Amino acid sequence: MKQLTFIKKGKLEWHEVSEPKIENPTDAIVRPFIAARCDLDAGFLHHDIYGKYRIGKLLGLTDEKVPEFTRPDVLKGPFPMGHECVAEIVELGKELTGFRKGQKVVIPFQVSCGTCPVCSSGLTSQCETYGAFDMYSGIGKHKIRGGMISDLFLVPNAQHMLIPIPEGMNWIDLGSASDNLPDAWSRVAPELINKPGKKVLVIGGATKSVSLYAVAFAMKMKTEQVDFMDTSKERLLIAQKMGANTFRPGSKDLDNRYDLIVNGTNTSNSIRNCIAWLRPGGVCQCSNIFLLKELRFLSFKCMLRI
Ligand SMILES: [Zn+2]
Ligand SMILES: [Zn+2]
Repeated sequence: MKQLTFIKKGKLEWHEVSEPKIENPTDAIVRPFIAARCDLDAGFLHHDIYGKYRIGKLLGLTDEKVPEFTRPDVLKGPFPMGHECVAEIVELGKELTGFRKGQKVVIPFQVSCGTCPVCSSGLTSQCETYGAFDMYSGIGKHKIRGGMISDLFLVPNAQHMLIPIPEGMNWIDLGSASDNLPDAWSRVAPELINKPGKKVLVIGGATKSVSLYAVAFAMKMKTEQVDFMDTSKERLLIAQKMGANTFRPGSKDLDNRYDLIVNGTNTSNSIRNCIAWLRPGGVCQCSNIFLLKELRFLSFKCMLRI
């Protein structure tokens, strides 16, 4: 079967790989038919992330406390591409119940057990059983999961991992539901649901789609105002169409007293700005990956409450 493979910046190839087989009675095999591009994929396609990371490592700037990032080939191609898709079930292990072949499903990009204490608290991305780096697309520690832009792929622990799509939903709308869509939701929902009147700032830049999804979700909640800051004219226009007030970085007109800031950049300067712009009790949600040593306290997606 064919699998889309990332080689290096600007280069993808279709590679012939062997078809997955059910290995455990809790496995399923699915066929993806809609795929979306994560903000991270776009980063790999347009920038030499591995080269930059290697230079940062040589200069001692990167955070070595994240064990997976001490591996020499981390972030280096070739690896399977794609970790956001809508798929249909092709084969089911004997222990799986309540599913049928042909059923349309979403599969989270990180593998999780659903039962460990961390999963039970809702943080399935940090599952203690599989680990935070067991993920599709091959940049994780295992490099065994394959990518979601392939003819077929295997889903372990499928009773928990397969998320059936309710009847009547538009499959294309769910293209990013494996990752960026719920990521954006988790940045805004806990702070805005049943808490009307909040002032929100979303900063775009590195996480381009997550930031715009965050604006979309925030606009549907009873906020007092939603501001959006980005360097891209195109993204500012999209946010404006959704009803957000838009600003370019450095604008003197920002409110500077926000209840929630969703920070989609990864520089230390942006973190300093966010801290300055929050009102007491405000929350900064970071939707990016921080690899710099000086930002170690923010190594992975986290929340900063001021
Ligand atoms: Zn992603
Ligand atoms: Zn778990």
